[in-house]
Amino acid sequence: MPISSEPTAQDVLQRVFGYDHFRGHQADVVNQVVAGGDALVLMPTGGGKSLCFQIPALVRAGTGVVVSPLIALMQDQVDALTELGVRAAYLNSTQDMATVREVEHAFVSGQLDMLYVAPERLLTDRCLSLLARGNISLFAIDEAHCVSQWGHDFRPEYLGLSLLGERWPDVPRIALTATATEATRIEIIERLGLHDAQVFVSSFDRPNIRYRIVEKNDPRRQLLDFVKNEHAGDAGVIYCMSRNKVEETAEFLCQQGIDAMAYHAGMDAQRRAANQARFLREDGVVMVATIAFGMGIDKPDVRFVAHLDMPKSVEGYYQETGRAGRDGLPAQAWMAYGLQDVVQQRRMIDESTGDDAYKRRSAAMLDAMLGLCETVSCRRTRLLNYFGQVSTACGNCDTCLEPPQAWDGTIAAQKALSAVYRMWKERGQRFGTAHLIDLLRGKKTEKIGQNRHDELSVFGIGADLSDNEWRSVLRQLIAQGLLSVDHESFGTLGLTEASRAVLKGEHTLMLRREPPKPARGRGSSTSTRTKAPAIVLPPAAEPVFAALRSWRASIAKEHGVPAYVI
Ligand code: ADP
Ligand code: MG
Ligand code: ZN
Repeated sequence: MPISSEPTAQDVLQRVFGYDHFRGHQADVVNQVVAGGDALVLMPTGGGKSLCFQIPALVRAGTGVVVSPLIALMQDQVDALTELGVRAAYLNSTQDMATVREVEHAFVSGQLDMLYVAPERLLTDRCLSLLARGNISLFAIDEAHCVSQWGHDFRPEYLGLSLLGERWPDVPRIALTATATEATRIEIIERLGLHDAQVFVSSFDRPNIRYRIVEKNDPRRQLLDFVKNEHAGDAGVIYCMSRNKVEETAEFLCQQGIDAMAYHAGMDAQRRAANQARFLREDGVVMVATIAFGMGIDKPDVRFVAHLDMPKSVEGYYQETGRAGRDGLPAQAWMAYGLQDVVQQRRMIDESTGDDAYKRRSAAMLDAMLGLCETVSCRRTRLLNYFGQVSTACGNCDTCLEPPQAWDGTIAAQKALSAVYRMWKERGQRFGTAHLIDLLRGKKTEKIGQNRHDELSVFGIGADLSDNEWRSVLRQLIAQGLLSVDHESFGTLGLTEASRAVLKGEHTLMLRREPPKPARGRGSSTSTRTKAPAIVLPPAAEPVFAALRSWRASIAKEHGVPAYVI
């Protein structure tokens, strides 16, 4: 390496990496680690975490050992470093024995500035005894949130990494992640034993990303419109939950003339690698993928990230959307979100094999995600608040640009909840959302006939709302825990403790309605139905309505009927 005996961090930044200035907390982190202290670095994707350990590894004597969870990531970084003249190598399962021996020899004889190792590799006897024979300048644990059992990228091997601090108490350790929740931070410190680490937290705002969450009704068409109208020729990533859906969506987009490819863990490794390489190398390629795609992918000009299915946590959403606009130019994070997302995610938690604590925590994480989807205030503020950071309304997200309306959904909710109650009370039956909507709208379907649901008093009481509007109402009721979804019996709906208060009219339930869409020619469903009016009350009217509501509630209670009947 062409660096004099005692280079400073600033020298290395300029001479090796060719940058003039450190960004954000980089300089402070580098100083802390160069001085031999531990650090925990929370910095958003694209923030420049790599330099935080690469520079100290070059400034301090010995080899910096970097734990990195993905082979592709390791190879990319080693290639980039080698090109800069840094002596870097990696150890992972793709190498033959001769190469492994070569790398081991280089390490022991002090010829490496940096050694990247996969976590499962590092914890083997062979590797630990190798490390004991060399001179280590620091340990870097990249993507440290992989240690979090609650997170979306959990790697059991990461749990073993606390051993590094025990065996090498004098070697500084630096853990880095783009996940910023307090809970993850605490978990990283606990599980890696980083109790004396200095914690560096950057702002997690990505001001160039515009957040948009649209109500899902015809997702493929909505996606196609979005890509064609707003991102023709742009590189983008589209996330779907299942492998099947990835394949189907990629195929559909190709048929529509979009240069789309698929990526998921079920594909053979070669095709996957080829698709990834094409995405990175060429312009304007759209990758349709499961969340298996993306960690560590440093493609600066991804102009959009789209979600056809809702992620299960805000952390996941933030990480995935964070892959857009790493170059700082305008980019969009778009998601279609609907009733099925809520039902599906609740089912996945129910069906998971985790214990009660796991389920409770997963449910809390899902609730936060649902809160972000249903919010009527600024999405960015909501997102940053989740990470414990403050922000004012951004002016660059859908809710800031086109504020959704809030409407009094109390009566609609009472209708839905009463219908569920009646089916159960009078027939001992439970049904899913589709049947409930048919019942509310008074459709004489075969299933309605078979179950004689047209004889129920609640049949047809919801004819004033469209199918889509009912889906939106039910989605919000489930999201708010006012309807439960029982997955043991095929997603049937039930009442919850909280629904009683709504049924009794004890409080007003404000629901979200999407801002009106520009008319899309003829045949739209808006013409035939009466729209529930957006209720905007003058402040003085509120006590009057409150009194009316409680009066209605008390009469209803007296007669044992739902309040909407009054
Ligand atoms: P992260 O790991 O936090 O997602 P990276 O370390 O991959 O981010 O860095 C993202 C990009 O920012 C890289 O292209 C890197 O070269 C660049 N970068 C990092 N630090 C600086 C800096 N101080 N000046 C200019 N560019 C930087
Ligand atoms: Mg990184
Ligand atoms: Zn906003």
